[in-house]
Amino acid sequence: MPMSLHLYNSLTRRVEAFQPLDPARPTMYVCGPTVYNYVHIGNARGPVVFGVLADLLRRRHGGLAYARNITDIDDKINAAAREQGVPISAITDRFAAAYREDMAALGVAPPDIEPEATAHVAEIIAMVERLIERGHAYEAEGHVLFAVGSFDGYGKLARRDLREMLAGARVEVAPYKRDPGDFVLWKPSTPDLPGWESPWGVGRPGWHIECSAMAAAHLGETIDIHAGGVDLQFPHHENEIAQSECAHGGRTFARFWLHNGMLTFGGAKMSKSVGNIEKVHDLVREHPPEALRYALLSAHYRQPLDWSDALIEQSRRTLDRLYGTLRDLSGVDATPVIPASIETALDDDLNTPQALAELARIAGEARRTGDDEARARAKGELLGAGLALGLLQQDPAQWFGGGGDDGDDARVQALVDERAAAKKARDFARADAIRDQLAAEGVLLEDTPAGVRWRRG
Ligand SMILES: [Zn+2]
Repeated sequence: MPMSLHLYNSLTRRVEAFQPLDPARPTMYVCGPTVYNYVHIGNARGPVVFGVLADLLRRRHGGLAYARNITDIDDKINAAAREQGVPISAITDRFAAAYREDMAALGVAPPDIEPEATAHVAEIIAMVERLIERGHAYEAEGHVLFAVGSFDGYGKLARRDLREMLAGARVEVAPYKRDPGDFVLWKPSTPDLPGWESPWGVGRPGWHIECSAMAAAHLGETIDIHAGGVDLQFPHHENEIAQSECAHGGRTFARFWLHNGMLTFGGAKMSKSVGNIEKVHDLVREHPPEALRYALLSAHYRQPLDWSDALIEQSRRTLDRLYGTLRDLSGVDATPVIPASIETALDDDLNTPQALAELARIAGEARRTGDDEARARAKGELLGAGLALGLLQQDPAQWFGGGGDDGDDARVQALVDERAAAKKARDFARADAIRDQLAAEGVLLEDTPAGVRWRRG
């Protein structure tokens, strides 16, 4: 069965077969964080799901150029620096490091290229100059603005009438704009703000041009995939297309546009009662990070995902079952093999809920089978399926115990077995005594059809 990746392309509004321009080196750009604070869990959905895509592309093509930028020039950063009385770099260095740490905790591998806007100011200025030369941008009162009326394709991604788009997006009205939809490529800086010398005076770039310049610098004028949250579709991505295509003589900027849906907090008291709990930095300290990753993959990436404590808890229990199966198979030697059913699910526009259902099915098979050869195959498939999704790569003892103390795990397991034997012998006093002893140690027992599972609370 030939594998063929199909992706929903926001630009054409269709699911299309994906083939990279260079079969040995697909290119992908994902809009990264603006580093002025810890990121919200909603901002982790893109990196997690597009990280699964990056792994798939690497498997299929043997190579990938994946860039995810760091926006380190932004007015929100300037405001944070001023408020805290520190240099800009104190803010950006701190939160870029926290971002890398938080993504690593969620099992997100670093991209191949992590460009920072401050390191690409020369490329940004060159692109702005080219846009002015070609009649797509103009200088006014120290600002340089992109003239949206100069690009016929403006609005082709968001596919809305320009007037309607402007009404929906809060567009800054300024006297120096020829058209209210024109957006800033370059703006002047006062001495208290970060600024760079440019043909238009000391200033700094607008946000949109940063991505266009960094994508071109590292991936070329036409890239295979551009991805990000659906909230970036307009105006950010629309403006990236306008800048890049006008600077590059009309050449297509991105062949595929992928947009992940947003997280909602409809049923959640947690976002309201505890102000900071939905930050990744806090969540990874309060829950097993792998359960957060599982939760983020539990809905299709284009759909909204309702985030709640119940979702995290359900994800943790599912992983308990899966790791329980791996623990039961700990004596079986197996080589991870990614099952075809997992590849098929991911080929279907990254259908991770389908892939997770397959993971559960494979685990069920592994639990039922008694034959050694079948158990080895099932374990290899379970590990391989986990690998494709960035799950199940810990030692089961580490998942259940947190510390992975094998000797103590064996002692707890012996007590759990003894309790089961006591119950079978109707020695309920002994069974209860063991349960109490384990509870005092913080070990929680759960009766499942496959037997008793335990974990440290
Ligand atoms: Zn961007």
